[in-house]
Amino acid sequence: MVQGSCLCGQVKYQVELIPEKTFNCHCSYCRKAHGAAFVTLVFAKADSLKITNGKDAIKEHKNDLGGVRAFCSNCGTRLMNYAPDKNMYLSIALSTVDTPVNFAPVAHVNIESKASWHEPYEGIPQFKSLPEGVL
Ligand SMILES: [Zn+2]
Ligand SMILES: [Zn+2]
Repeated sequence: MVQGSCLCGQVKYQVELIPEKTFNCHCSYCRKAHGAAFVTLVFAKADSLKITNGKDAIKEHKNDLGGVRAFCSNCGTRLMNYAPDKNMYLSIALSTVDTPVNFAPVAHVNIESKASWHEPYEGIPQFKSLPEGVL
């Protein structure tokens, strides 16, 4: 179990991560939502998620595909993604995890839609989309 929080500290959560499912996602949705070249997401056990503070501050953005992106309405920090039915999948923006972790991303995913101006770093595999069997 790790602890995480947003930039302003209003939202705090705890969750059980699945370290072997840690990815750098280069998809255009993640890039826009985070204002970054890519975002490191780690999948987590959906039923382990507990918002320990600031539940009311969490806002959700739903995309056309039905995915939900949760963020802090006070500071704008992107916290996590999930399916409308949270049990299908839950992924956490690793940069919001406060507990030190001893694992690293295992692959670059969705490089099909990566930024033309960014080259993913070497040393881990690259996948055009999300490898099968991840969800
Ligand atoms: Zn916040
Ligand atoms: Zn993405």
